[in-house]
Amino acid sequence: MQIVIAIAVGLALTQLANLATTVYLHRDLAHKAVQMHPAIRSFFKVFLWMATGIAARQWAAVHRKHHAYTDAPEDPHSPARLGWLRVQLTNAALYRRSARDPRTTERYAKDIPITLPDRILLSRGIIGLALGVAILVLWLGWVPGLVASAVHTVGYIGLGGSVNGVAHTFGRRPFDNSATNVTWLAWLTCGEGYHNNHHAAPTSARFARRWHHFDLGWWFICVASWLGLAQIRHADVDALASRSTTSAQV
Ligand SMILES: [Zn+2]
Ligand SMILES: [Zn+2]
Repeated sequence: MQIVIAIAVGLALTQLANLATTVYLHRDLAHKAVQMHPAIRSFFKVFLWMATGIAARQWAAVHRKHHAYTDAPEDPHSPARLGWLRVQLTNAALYRRSARDPRTTERYAKDIPITLPDRILLSRGIIGLALGVAILVLWLGWVPGLVASAVHTVGYIGLGGSVNGVAHTFGRRPFDNSATNVTWLAWLTCGEGYHNNHHAAPTSARFARRWHHFDLGWWFICVASWLGLAQIRHADVDALASRSTTSAQV
């Protein structure tokens, strides 16, 4: 029974990490499509530090580079160049290689300040991860704690690989870009699976185009906005996509 609880905790952690990634790292910090309340930003930032070891500023920089050079040699993780299976399986290593290059943050995260907590603690992913595992072990015990963190690690890294690998290879392309829409992946990643829509309109806080498309990140933003905890900048994929096509044609 303890192992079932441990697996459930691991899966829940992956989903919360996916929500924090898509809402805070991706739609807010990297693309400025929405401005979340500072309390939500801080909670997600510290949670991601402990659950994934990710430093927010580095993630935003690597991701912006991916948009700037999609499928060009400089793309940190391009399935068109490396093959989808390699991106699927080594996405975390590809991310780390780009994140560790100081030129990535220098160029792509100029506008994101390095705060004192970042400098002292939050840029040191290994401390965050150790703290996260320690909390799980203290809470659930040695074996279930380690099982929960293993399930979460495999889930989070695997789904991140799928967004960059599968959702640039298989699926539908309603807009003219190399990314794809993959419905099952959207269900598992709080909406990130609508990656073709996202590449067509990166500044849209909403990734889905229809109300019934499963975009949990967007629904979370809507509730936060209703509570006064988020300011949405843009949220219309089709309008933004046609605007960028028109400006590209001019
Ligand atoms: Zn992409
Ligand atoms: Zn993006």
